Amino acid sequence: MIILKFGGTSVGSVENFRKVADIVNRVQEEKIVVLSAMSGVTNTLVEIADQLQTGNEERAIFLVENLDRKYRDVVRDLLPDVVMQEKAFDFLDAQNEVLIRLAEEAYTENAAKEILAQGEWVSTHLFHYYLGSLSAPNELISALDFMRIDRNGEPEPERIRQSLRKILQSDSVNRTYITQGYICRNHLNEIDNLRRGGSDYSASLIGAAADARQIQIWTDIDGMHNNDPRYVDNTFSVGELSFDEAAELAYFGAKILHPQSIIPAKENNIPVLLKNTFRPDSRGTLIHQGAEVRSIRAIAAKDNITAIKIKSYRMLMAYGFLKNVFEVFEDHKTAIDMITTSEVAVSLTIDDTTKLAQIKKGLQGFGTIEVDSDLSIICIAGDISQNKKGVTASIFNSLKDIPIRMISYGGSNYNLSFLVKTS
Ligand code: ASP
Ligand code: MG
Repeated sequence: MIILKFGGTSVGSVENFRKVADIVNRVQEEKIVVLSAMSGVTNTLVEIADQLQTGNEERAIFLVENLDRKYRDVVRDLLPDVVMQEKAFDFLDAQNEVLIRLAEEAYTENAAKEILAQGEWVSTHLFHYYLGSLSAPNELISALDFMRIDRNGEPEPERIRQSLRKILQSDSVNRTYITQGYICRNHLNEIDNLRRGGSDYSASLIGAAADARQIQIWTDIDGMHNNDPRYVDNTFSVGELSFDEAAELAYFGAKILHPQSIIPAKENNIPVLLKNTFRPDSRGTLIHQGAEVRSIRAIAAKDNITAIKIKSYRMLMAYGFLKNVFEVFEDHKTAIDMITTSEVAVSLTIDDTTKLAQIKKGLQGFGTIEVDSDLSIICIAGDISQNKKGVTASIFNSLKDIPIRMISYGGSNYNLSFLVKTS
């Protein structure tokens, strides 16, 4: 069993759907194809939901109709066969009705989630019809029948495994299954999702549930790059990474992979191969346990970081201080990325500032609070273990002209991060 996940760009146009079909049809073993929504669609669906929330039904319906037109153009071009076209148009009629109904009903959070789920629903149906028109046998299975999150929004691997197992046929035919990334049901059985960019996570959870031998993530880039191509010229894709290195890089800015998607793969020791839909023959990046150790493998950057410094003489030789500080962040469900301490102060960073005001308030009793924004974390991943001489010296030497706000080293053997002004 192999999982092939294609991102929004890969299913973003008729031409690209054809490329995806070529890649899928070349794989001669049982496979589950996981698709994102066509590129831009989830953003549009978010906008539709936002418009409804603010009572702008007219604008929402306008957007729904635009989307419908776009889909119909795709169908006309992708499915020359009239019978298949009819099937697809019937599907789109029903689809359009769902969105119009949701637009006309009173806005609720559940309705918004149902709206967001429509992007993957459509892309998988269109691909299903397309493979059908190529006479390539395939089965469309609904992620809503097996993908599940608990009351905290976290996936439930065991339930996912059990439900998926019931759906997958146990004959020896090399079947092709198609399913939606991103969407799921929650603990109340309502339609929900794994949050933005969550299709990678779906693929990895499905890989774990199906005991896949490999999870392939197909995007529009040749793999994980050794540096951030937004700022650095002549970057290249890294041939292999360990799970830990990949997790650090994905979390600290490498946009190619949803950070949480490393977890199920690592836990089940399933290699993850990052590939480029538009250059299928380039080697890509293999994330696996046996990756050869390299001193500095890659560098990533994460912007929009906020640092919070709490300074207090009460911290001097006291215990329990950090626990109390962390509790404030826990109360506001805000993850801390980096942390450094001195005897009388602690600095930490967050990237989600939605609860910043409440957090500041919660910290008030602890000491003086300073908040800095517009910062970036630079993450260097590789084998930077404590036993190695010289690696940190060479890193700091290359930074001699750059003021550094925070440094984090020694938390793991794979990562050294520092915080600088984004500018
Ligand atoms: N379509 C969803 C998004 O744009 C999920 C994904 O593509 O990973 O966030
Ligand atoms: Mg993505």
